[in-house]
Amino acid sequence: RIAFVNGQYVPHKDAAVHVEDRGYQFADGVYEVCEVWKSAIIDMPRHMDRLDRSLRELRIDWPLHRKALEFVMAETVRRNRVSDGIVYVQVTRGVARRDHFFPSGDVAPSIVVTARSANPKVADKQAETGIAVVTYPENRWPRVDIKTVALLPNVLAKQNAKEQGGKEAWYVDQDGNVTEGGSTNVWIVTKEGTLVTRPAESGILKGITRAVVLDLVERHGIAFEERPFSLEEAKQAREAFVTAASTLVMPVVKIDGSPVGNGHPGSVATALRDQFHTATDLHRL
Ligand code: PLP
Repeated sequence: RIAFVNGQYVPHKDAAVHVEDRGYQFADGVYEVCEVWKSAIIDMPRHMDRLDRSLRELRIDWPLHRKALEFVMAETVRRNRVSDGIVYVQVTRGVARRDHFFPSGDVAPSIVVTARSANPKVADKQAETGIAVVTYPENRWPRVDIKTVALLPNVLAKQNAKEQGGKEAWYVDQDGNVTEGGSTNVWIVTKEGTLVTRPAESGILKGITRAVVLDLVERHGIAFEERPFSLEEAKQAREAFVTAASTLVMPVVKIDGSPVGNGHPGSVATALRDQFHTATDLHRL
């Protein structure tokens, strides 16, 4: 395997950044994960727009020109012979003597790109049975709209879910509303058959997969409401699912041990999963 690190393609086993990288010391960096499907990178423009926003919010410079980064991502996919999987991009504020203040002078941001294969049959098989989720108190900072590498709360929530027999954590805030998953956005289909997802204006990351699903919802005229929903409503829902670039649309069949709907993946989630790539943009080298 090959990784791109600060301007060079290097063997993955030797790929490293400096011990004083601010990503390592302060989680002072951002990232993107894009799906690779049929050797194409999915929704590159949307991912680059979100990366641009994350970088701006933290006042980190682009490490390369946008088009150059797109090229490096596609080249990393090609060099690793990934036809289905993910490409990962991480940008940090760079290497400087440890000090909380932004480094002064011309410290260049660090850039890392990796790519790895994932067998689509594994996720498809999982989608046929659905996953269990385990709730967790929302304990993250309010700027979860920025895709930073500061993921310790997500690590702890997801590990807790795993230890309770789940695949994903669902954050529940002080109002009893479900915000998002540990690494996914959350959706339900109400008893009345309306698809619901939380607005992206507060308390969640604005997922790219979420945006694609919203396009599908519009295209197919699916009954839809963008509003917060509670854990109680989710437990009473006809179906539930989560979305992310790595798993696409993944049905949820259990919340804290109790079945959702009839305990099987719902028809809306399954249809959206089947239709997913009809609404995506494909980027090839
Ligand atoms: N929410 C969180 C906290 C995430 O980490 C992710 C993806 O990793 C998502 C939502 C889904 O975003 P996307 O669809 O862009 O992968």
